Amino acid sequence: SPTVERHAFEAEVSRLLHLMVHAVYSDKDIFLRELISNAADACEKLRYLSIAEPALAAGAEGFAITVTADAAGRRLVVADDGIGMSRDELRDNLGTIARSGTKAFLDGLEKKEDGGALIGQFGVGFYSAFMVADRVRVVSRRAGSDEAWAWESDGKGTYELTPVPLEEAPVRGTRVELALAEGMETYAEAATVERIVRAYSAHVPVPIRFAEVGRDEVRELADGSALWAKPKASATAEEYREFYGTVAQAWDEPALTLHYRAEGRHEYSVLLFVPSEKPFDLFDPARKGRVKLYVRRVFITDEAEILPGWLRFARGVVDSEDLPLNLSREMLQKNPVIEAIGKGVTSRLLSELAKTADNDADTYAKVWAAFGAVLKEGLYEAPERRDELFRIARFRTTTAGEAWRSLADYVKDLKENQTAIYYALGESREAVLASPHLEGYAARGLEVLILTDPVDAFWVRTALGFDGKPFKSVTQGAADLDAIAKPEGAPEEAGAAEVAALAALLKEALAERVSDVRASARLASSPVCLVAADHALDKLTEKLVARQEG
Ligand code: ADP
Ligand code: MG
Repeated sequence: SPTVERHAFEAEVSRLLHLMVHAVYSDKDIFLRELISNAADACEKLRYLSIAEPALAAGAEGFAITVTADAAGRRLVVADDGIGMSRDELRDNLGTIARSGTKAFLDGLEKKEDGGALIGQFGVGFYSAFMVADRVRVVSRRAGSDEAWAWESDGKGTYELTPVPLEEAPVRGTRVELALAEGMETYAEAATVERIVRAYSAHVPVPIRFAEVGRDEVRELADGSALWAKPKASATAEEYREFYGTVAQAWDEPALTLHYRAEGRHEYSVLLFVPSEKPFDLFDPARKGRVKLYVRRVFITDEAEILPGWLRFARGVVDSEDLPLNLSREMLQKNPVIEAIGKGVTSRLLSELAKTADNDADTYAKVWAAFGAVLKEGLYEAPERRDELFRIARFRTTTAGEAWRSLADYVKDLKENQTAIYYALGESREAVLASPHLEGYAARGLEVLILTDPVDAFWVRTALGFDGKPFKSVTQGAADLDAIAKPEGAPEEAGAAEVAALAALLKEALAERVSDVRASARLASSPVCLVAADHALDKLTEKLVARQEG
């Protein structure tokens, strides 16, 4: 008799399942998208492995996902002939939360309570099946194995693992069987299943078939063709949006879609998206790029780091015609073809961003608000891209109100005798605007860049300037504003001799507590402020450095 093993879910899985079942999502349809996405991943993994080991996929005429609805039995089954799972893999993959995304999702939920607002940002994975099913059974046979196992659970704390006779298991791959909960009958109806597949999964790179229990006909709901391989002219906005959802596991409206085919020294197709919303883990140090590498329509890896870290918000696919299919992990690193593709795609993406900035300022403002802080990392990580990045960088300034300003805007409006681009670092816009350091600049109508992202303190010190104008902090050294005229009607200043006498008096009184006391044009209404010496660290940099070292 088969030995049934009962296991308890990891505590976090139980928490997730509880949240999942109790009204996290109003939109339960997404469970099918998640199961199909797993099935497609499994097919792509096997497609890749079978290049080196054809026996693994023996007997298959290609890969497919089959969705079977049983309205009378209130059941829905999603089957694939992909890589499958061994007993240990069933336990590890479906009993624990290994994915950082799922964990971040849980934490986010607990903080916010409002799951609906978060849903756009997360692929919630296999466990979402329990939103619609009160029992889930997963029968799986790992490709090449002569064992099959079933995983089964009602989602209430424990699951069971049972060996399955081979004749009851798929030849290879996985069958996910859902016993639908009361009220969820619609998910066993043809019309519902078809609608969801077309809305969410029409462009997964594996064909999707649909069958109904009691009917012979099998229909193809999606042909598994790669959208990126289609000519741009024949792809629709709808198709792009749906594919974005599949490939990025994100459900916002992409701000930018980049689809092209490169020919010449290297041939490759690109379908990339820039999201319009910030993903939750943008600054997670473990977060890698999310561009998937394909070779001639075969998925190879999403760990190839095709784009530099400062473009890590871009999502999508690069499909090479030139690379070998049997790329090993070592071959992915420092691979000249991948590097050349990465450079080409980077240039194209930057010029596309520049175009958006010129032609559609509203959309671009969203992109910059979400990803500007990431793009600015490129200003010091990739000096050779600095000009391109300066072209698309946007800033809040002391004189522009809510408008975003480019450096070109800034330089175009320089005051007479102004030779530098002034900036003020600070923790927030309000803090900067309240700083007395700005008074002299304000009195002269000078524009000052307001820099409040942590990366700002780093790039602004290494960038040599823009258009021949150096960047100059308002808190550093002598403000040197004498050359720039105040507008008419500004209050009269004290005579130079009187000011010099006062400075000398103060310096004597403060003795070694200061290195110097000097008259400066930087203040307008405050009598005095502290500044760093000319070559000392900027005040905020000092703070940041102290924080890192402390
Ligand atoms: P994710 O797909 O983001 O990794 P899921 O919760 O959807 O997270 O799935 C967890 C893991 O379970 C997958 O990473 C995969 O290893 C395994 N898995 C799920 N469904 C399948 C399947 N149909 N075939 C093979 N493995 C699967
Ligand atoms: Mg998944």
